[in-house]
Amino acid sequence: MLDVQGMEVGPGTYLLGLYLPVSTRLRVGALGTPELPAGSYFYVGSALGPGGIAARLRHHVRRSQRPHWHIDYLRREADLVAALISEGSSRRECRWAAALEAHAVPVLDPRGFGASDCACGTHLFAGARWPGPAALLRRLREPLGASQLWSARRLARLAASRAR
Ligand SMILES: [Zn+2]
Repeated sequence: MLDVQGMEVGPGTYLLGLYLPVSTRLRVGALGTPELPAGSYFYVGSALGPGGIAARLRHHVRRSQRPHWHIDYLRREADLVAALISEGSSRRECRWAAALEAHAVPVLDPRGFGASDCACGTHLFAGARWPGPAALLRRLREPLGASQLWSARRLARLAASRAR
């Protein structure tokens, strides 16, 4: 477990708010080369192993030289704007994905993005032009039961900090 800014961040579920500045054709491994329009994107994941959410967010804050997860390919092109966090050892990412759909955030093709290990169609959602990623995360915080909302500035501090 990592101690970040004097606060312990254990295992849990997270939701990334991203902004893609220009339309981009991604090369997403086996998922092909989808063309993504510029705009807001939302990705849900969980980090239940050693290092928990802090280690995973540190991974997402840095642009991956060798992409491992689907989200790594998008992250190379998109800015990470904010993150919602809920600590706990139960896997809540699929519930969060369903909640995102309920908030009328359109599902992005190709289906299966980030959802190779579950029954969800996707764990990546595209947003309307308004609200932006940070505003939607603020709006979703209570419905999702997320305990923390991290700003881009705080995420950058996490990236600069060292794992202990
Ligand atoms: Zn799922």
